[in-house]
Amino acid sequence: MGQEEDVNLFVQWRHATATKWQYCPLCREVLRDQDWDGKSRRYCAQCGFVYWERPLPAVAAVVYDAPSDQVLLVTRKYPPQVGGYTFPGGGVEAGESLTAAVMREVLEETGVVVEVEMLLGTWSTPNNETIITFYRAHLVGGTLVAGSDAVSVNWFPRVQVPRLAFSVHQEVMRLFYHSIELQQMEKSR
Ligand SMILES: [Zn+2]
Repeated sequence: MGQEEDVNLFVQWRHATATKWQYCPLCREVLRDQDWDGKSRRYCAQCGFVYWERPLPAVAAVVYDAPSDQVLLVTRKYPPQVGGYTFPGGGVEAGESLTAAVMREVLEETGVVVEVEMLLGTWSTPNNETIITFYRAHLVGGTLVAGSDAVSVNWFPRVQVPRLAFSVHQEVMRLFYHSIELQQMEKSR
């Protein structure tokens, strides 16, 4: 599959929300809009199925290698912000904890194995379609190789991290710097 087709598929997936569903996924009856709790939702009059549309849970990690004082960043392959720098991350799978999801996503996108150290925070994306939880994680192994979602993956010196593609990631970066400074202050006491 060419990269252009790849991108189109991805864009379609992003916008294939259930508000556009035509048929019931359980009994194949035609769905209609009905008011539930003051909001219009897709509803099946035959079997009672209601689609409760919710934001997607996602995770991302600031991967830090303390010995080399470097941070791992992904160069984005897909919209939005193609070519921009972000932290590795992605969607949480059903049956998976947030920390298991972030370790799996980092491995898939960058090839490195990490351990989660601490929670940095949770944010909604500007369109409120996704809720992202950010962790700080440290390198424990693996081999650096870009996954299918990334143009490339690279280590950057902590004090020379380039501008990140999303304002939330910039905010997370500030929290990460703060967490490192706190640790350094505690050590020097
Ligand atoms: Zn139905």
